[in-house]
Amino acid sequence: MSQRPHQHEHLAAYFCMEFALHEEFPIYSGGLGVLAGDAIKSAGDLKLPLVAVGLFWNEGYTTQRIDADGRPYDEYPPCPAEHTRDTGVRISVEVAGEEVRCRVLLVDKYGNAPLYLLDPEAPAQRWITRRLYGGGARDRVAQEILLGVGGVRALRALGLPVTVYHFNEGHAVFAGLELMREHMQSASAPLDFEAALEATRAVCVFTTHTPVPAGNETHPGELLLELGANLHLTAAELETLGGEPFGMTVAGLRLSRRANAVAALHGDTSRGMWKAVTGAAPITSITNGVHPGTWQDERIRGAMRGEDSMWDAHHALKRALVHEVWRRTGTRLDSGKLLIGFARRAAAYKRADLILRNSARIEQRLLSGDVQLLFSGKAHPKDDAGKEIVANLVAMARRYPGSVVFLENYDMSIGRLLTRGCDVWLNNPRRPLEASGTSGMKAAMNGVLNLSVLDGWWPEGCAHGVNGWQIGGGYEPEGQTPAEHEAQDQHDMQALYDVLDREVVPTFYADRARWIAMMRASVEMAEVRFSSHRMVQQYFTELYRMDAELRPTVSVDAPAPGMVVRGGAEGEETRAL
Ligand SMILES: *Cc1c(COP(=O)(O)O)cnc(C)c1O
Repeated sequence: MSQRPHQHEHLAAYFCMEFALHEEFPIYSGGLGVLAGDAIKSAGDLKLPLVAVGLFWNEGYTTQRIDADGRPYDEYPPCPAEHTRDTGVRISVEVAGEEVRCRVLLVDKYGNAPLYLLDPEAPAQRWITRRLYGGGARDRVAQEILLGVGGVRALRALGLPVTVYHFNEGHAVFAGLELMREHMQSASAPLDFEAALEATRAVCVFTTHTPVPAGNETHPGELLLELGANLHLTAAELETLGGEPFGMTVAGLRLSRRANAVAALHGDTSRGMWKAVTGAAPITSITNGVHPGTWQDERIRGAMRGEDSMWDAHHALKRALVHEVWRRTGTRLDSGKLLIGFARRAAAYKRADLILRNSARIEQRLLSGDVQLLFSGKAHPKDDAGKEIVANLVAMARRYPGSVVFLENYDMSIGRLLTRGCDVWLNNPRRPLEASGTSGMKAAMNGVLNLSVLDGWWPEGCAHGVNGWQIGGGYEPEGQTPAEHEAQDQHDMQALYDVLDREVVPTFYADRARWIAMMRASVEMAEVRFSSHRMVQQYFTELYRMDAELRPTVSVDAPAPGMVVRGGAEGEETRAL
């Protein structure tokens, strides 16, 4: 269904590098894209005045398979364009000294608020949008210029009345620089740098996602100047905004009037991390959520309404998962035995192998089949340590055949299967490095019980023994040295085995009634508090404040150099409506 954003007087524009709408359209890598996809689907469901802006990735992210030696390798099938429609609108952006003319494509078939994707017309210029998070620093900056600068120009060319610009993660902050350029080059009311910053801040908001300082992207100011002639700022002005090297998060905070972290604990972490940034927007927390229509199974919803037995609904989902695992891997899991799922991007802090580290405490259960472990995950194609983690999980699956399984090429379809069909969802990151996490919310929404350290969203959701379990205690500070990491790992590993042995396994095998009561409590908790409907509504009331703090639309009397608006059939329609 096509949404009609033009009916609104004021729109929020949501910028993100990736959007996970469906596995058939792989312009996403992981959690950030899932969040963005869920957010714009909820905005669509709730008919909120929002449009989204991203890039069309020609080869998407990696399709990651496992070779005969048990090591991951990457394939890049072309991303199908059939899920997009050409609006007929064209914009252009200067990148690395060349005018890059882009088609503005529209995606609106997933019940989502309208998503506009930029796609360079000339095949020779598609190096910019070849692979999501591919290439080196130069490619990344080029991508970010296209997303930010090109995104603002696309909104102008489409004639959309945008009054709030939301940068989801630092990748999109060049949109703020384009807004500054518009003000500074305005024919009727040109502003100086300070005034342009003021005016830009009035209309921008920012979501930060990365609680690890090193995970926050920076680029040498020189590279920005070399690639981004359209930024029209001096080296000194760039440094005022983002420091040197130019920090995308720092700039995001300085270019925005409000910012948010993605869970309450992450808010504390973020405020501590960025408190020294002068001129930064105040950071509030808006906890992530997941889209019920995408992630929650109908049968579970039915069981909550009393139409079906919760256990029967769950068991049907579990059998479907067991069947799919057999189809994909040839391994037959036992649907009568406890099945623990873990699917994550392969990053060291997520500690995928924690449950397997002390074989004395887990081996007997794996050999007897009392505990079955189902893993999935992808490593970034250039992350050798991440690939090592994947290879290690594959090795464990070979060591415990029938009890440990690894599914290659973690994507939305695997995410959906696992967060519906497992009994328990395991999450054991090194606290406080998981900003929020959303797979546990999907699991909770399907009555798959969370077994997790108190990181990310879980401190807000967890009632131990009522709707899931916590591993270990509260918030010990994160260790910094390898020795401290090792101590934290040992502590959490023992705590994990303790709760598994004393609570999870006995409840599963000996107290079905309690298990089912916990499932119901879990679904209710997730439906009420961790839906992306709640999240986007909070964006509007706490972040965008379009009524309370309405600022005038940026005047667009300084057309971007080389901007072209061409009326194709759909382009005409866009303007006529
Ligand atoms: C939900 C999901 C994620 C994010 O889950 P986390 O808990 O944040 O790791 C990543 N990838 C896929 C395919 C997902 O479905």
